[in-house]
Amino acid sequence: MRLFAIFGDPVSHSRSPLMHNSVFKALNYKACYTRVNLVDGSKLKETFFALKLSGANVTVPHKEEAFRACDEVRGFAKTVGVVNTLINENGKLIGYNTDADGFMFAIEEFGSIQKVLILGAGGTAKALASRFLQDGIKVSVLNRSEKRLSYFSEIGCEISSWDSYKSKDYDLVVNTTSAGLKDEELPAPKEMLEEILTKTSFVADAIYGKLTPFLTLAKEHNITYKDGADMLLGQGILANKLFVNKELNKKDIKTHMQRSFEL
Ligand code: NDP
Repeated sequence: MRLFAIFGDPVSHSRSPLMHNSVFKALNYKACYTRVNLVDGSKLKETFFALKLSGANVTVPHKEEAFRACDEVRGFAKTVGVVNTLINENGKLIGYNTDADGFMFAIEEFGSIQKVLILGAGGTAKALASRFLQDGIKVSVLNRSEKRLSYFSEIGCEISSWDSYKSKDYDLVVNTTSAGLKDEELPAPKEMLEEILTKTSFVADAIYGKLTPFLTLAKEHNITYKDGADMLLGQGILANKLFVNKELNKKDIKTHMQRSFEL
């Protein structure tokens, strides 16, 4: 029996155990996926090996710490310095990032997107900004504080803090802050968001399983919006594929993981 887990703080809201266990059960794969509330991110690696995990996912606020903890980082995670999937490969900790491609899967239905505003400047924002730039999409990043913005200007995004923000047109505005996750806060001052929402076609939130205050505001402005459920599904399918290596196929993983959303 192989053991997998999700690390985060908070982590009790996570649907990942249900999603991955549904796949393992339906496809008779001998594995179990649990959750670990990890407060101190510097303990990630030792906890991973102490629990004898075969693999794990990492959520708020440890994704950048996960990058630092890895013995080797592969693919897109190397570009962004953010890891959300860990694999135990012969006692070595290998890191990947499946969030960004998961998000691209989620917004396919919005059609062609040319200009994006990202709210927040954490790990998810980094992954999405780099992924958008890779596709030639123009990216602006708005964060409440200055301190995490320099990374984004270095990779070619337009940056502003709440103090320096000037309103523009966008095709899509994405909330990647944790505002609304365990509180009822908006990701930026209400007047600023009201203005932003008059100038965008679509809105997305990385938070799933609830209508956040930000999505509620988008709904009031009659803007097409979606929460983070499809992003969660997309990143989960890609993570599961890494967990099981070649033993299960992606189409079957998608079918059974999608079904877990109906539970
Ligand atoms: P981080 O902790 O790395 O970054 C959080 C960001 O949110 C920072 O920029 C921070 O600003 C900002 N922030 C936090 N609280 C507030 C607030 N009250 N008002 C305004 N800004 C705030 O988090 P992650 O990037 O790892 O995750 C962000 C969110 O995305 C989480 O809610 C997570 O659950 C969700 N997520 C969902 C996924 C899915 O599959 N659907 C996948 C990945 C993430 P500052 O720099 O000023 O501190």
